[in-house]
Amino acid sequence: MEMLYAKWLFNGKEILKGLGCVSHNNMVVDLLPIKLAKKTYPEAVVKDYGEGVLFSGFVNAHTHLDLSNVSIEPYLGFVKWLKTMIETKVQANETQTDEAIKKALDSLIKSGVCAVADISNTLKSCNYLKKIPKAIVFFENYSLRKKQAQEKIAYIENNIENIRQTYKMKIDVTAHSVYSTHRDLLGYTMLKNNPKFGSDLFSFHFLESEFENPFVNSRGDLFEMLQEKGLIDNQLHFSSAIEYIKSLGDIKKGLFVHCVHIKPDEIEYLKSIDASIVIAPRSNYYISKSLPNLELLKNSGINVAIGTDSLASNWDLNIINELKFLYKHYSHIDPAYFFGIATTGGYTALNLHIGFKKGFYAYPFFMETTTNNALEEILQ
Ligand SMILES: [Zn+2]
Repeated sequence: MEMLYAKWLFNGKEILKGLGCVSHNNMVVDLLPIKLAKKTYPEAVVKDYGEGVLFSGFVNAHTHLDLSNVSIEPYLGFVKWLKTMIETKVQANETQTDEAIKKALDSLIKSGVCAVADISNTLKSCNYLKKIPKAIVFFENYSLRKKQAQEKIAYIENNIENIRQTYKMKIDVTAHSVYSTHRDLLGYTMLKNNPKFGSDLFSFHFLESEFENPFVNSRGDLFEMLQEKGLIDNQLHFSSAIEYIKSLGDIKKGLFVHCVHIKPDEIEYLKSIDASIVIAPRSNYYISKSLPNLELLKNSGINVAIGTDSLASNWDLNIINELKFLYKHYSHIDPAYFFGIATTGGYTALNLHIGFKKGFYAYPFFMETTTNNALEEILQ
């Protein structure tokens, strides 16, 4: 048994002074004032981290490790970025991709991440993610063409059990977005009534750019680019992306990623289906110098988590750098909120029992500080 303490402890919502966390094999046994903890658990091995903040482990709630070897220049704008992504034939140099994934993973671990939600088309990252205590892989499938979408569904139906057994980790199936995925595949991965995946999560790119609403009405630059590439075989006629999603049926709990262009009534709908919003602000900035509306999200009360997205649209995968960047743009918001979305927000979104709470898993990560505004100091 161990007793961990530092000057400050972040409990997922705020920082508190003088608390000791008693734990055994990373499971929290008790959380109480240090003096009392020492009296109650005299056998516990004491570990004093000193001046700074002890966190229970961060969550990178959206990344694509498979893309660690893809590099696209910043500020292209969304349609050009996506076009480049489609055209960039990921150099089939397996060794380079493996090396890039390993390096990216190291930077995740260094930034105190204990849980990652990784999006993978190839499942390559599964080989490496076992290094992260609570990793979830979203096996992503997409195609706008009906025939291919049906083939993907058949493939998943026939292989998912084997895939899960092979990798021995949490693998949930997900679609990619409204502009990349046929209605049949959207329904298959997002609706409650699928007996195979009804209780699994999905991770869905949503309202990342201003082109998604026109896309579902078969208009705009994104629609035209994808049509030119021959990727579209049927036309949609919806007033907005959210109306399209609603038309699918009873949507289960899942992650809606980006939501840069989301409106208040659309957030209310996502709240009503117990969804979480995952923001990836540096990715939005990298692609199109845009940002999620953090105030709108915060005030709505919806659960918010944060991720870095991939190295194809970010400078690195360091979650602290992600928080620092966001804080720079929203420095009037309480610093504790930022650490809240990187901990509790992520735990809630991914249904993880992590945190400094009795019976929960905790991944102690310490950051040194020297002032009394410890969280602000880390973000600056
Ligand atoms: Zn993404």
